[in-house]
Amino acid sequence: MFKRILGLALILSLMLLVGCAPDKKHGSSDVINIVATTGMIGDLAENIGGHRVDVITLMGPGIDPHLYKASERDVSRMSGADIIFYNGLHLEGAMAEVLERMGQRSHTAAVSEDLSEDILLSPPEFKGANDPHIWFDVTIWMTAAKTVNRHLTTSRPEFKAEFDANLTAYLDSLETLHQFVLDMAGQLREDRRVLITAHDAFNYFGQVYGFEVRGLQGISTASEAGAADVRELAEFIVERKIPAMFVETSVSPRNIEAVKAAVESRDYTVVIGGNLYSDAMGNKETVEGTYLGMVRHNIRTIVTALSDDREKLN
Ligand SMILES: [Zn+2]
Repeated sequence: MFKRILGLALILSLMLLVGCAPDKKHGSSDVINIVATTGMIGDLAENIGGHRVDVITLMGPGIDPHLYKASERDVSRMSGADIIFYNGLHLEGAMAEVLERMGQRSHTAAVSEDLSEDILLSPPEFKGANDPHIWFDVTIWMTAAKTVNRHLTTSRPEFKAEFDANLTAYLDSLETLHQFVLDMAGQLREDRRVLITAHDAFNYFGQVYGFEVRGLQGISTASEAGAADVRELAEFIVERKIPAMFVETSVSPRNIEAVKAAVESRDYTVVIGGNLYSDAMGNKETVEGTYLGMVRHNIRTIVTALSDDREKLN
């Protein structure tokens, strides 16, 4: 009898032990804690990492990465992360120091690190440095996806098969997206493929999808647009009969409105064709809160506003 009670007690305590043991699948030890600077990078990490990652994105909708400074909370989040993903190429200009400091003790990775020099653009206004807006060429973002996959796999080799499967599926979606943008751009008459925006974010976009691109401010929003820039752009719009220009969700519309007024003083009308998601995505709950949705929104907005036959596209 005593033996039976003892045996039962042993079984019970074993059951308790098993019940109390952390469930490996859902415990925090198996989740890779990631901090991403921009929404586009956070979205990429979520797509490749799937349920194996927990991603915190530092810069939300409407936030300008060129000017963003890390808060104390950001620094503590970065310190607790398994991997910190950032864009690099000086996109996070005001975070350079903190990212460098983090790089000395944490796993940090620039999603641009595998891009070769011949793929990167170096517009003259950026004085020898590379243009950081790589996400606008979907094929370049495919390379960034592979970079993220490599770092996730280094961190947790046991999930390699999962990360590889996620990568393959996401690369398929990106390929479809790339074709969609090409097809949409192809609907525009060639002389209509001129994209005027608040800052020079669209050089990669212009190169791959066949648009001439003019930004009022330089590559970084840190450079101010002067009166001469406004005048020059206004003259360009009148001369080339550009029907529309665009504002960006992460840049103040003030300068673009100044151009519009300068164009009107020259007896020509240019419309503001809509809001483009350039350096930040839309709200998390919306379609534009994903990279795929943001790129689709941009090309639809651009083609609709610059098209001869706007109704046909809606
Ligand atoms: Zn930018």
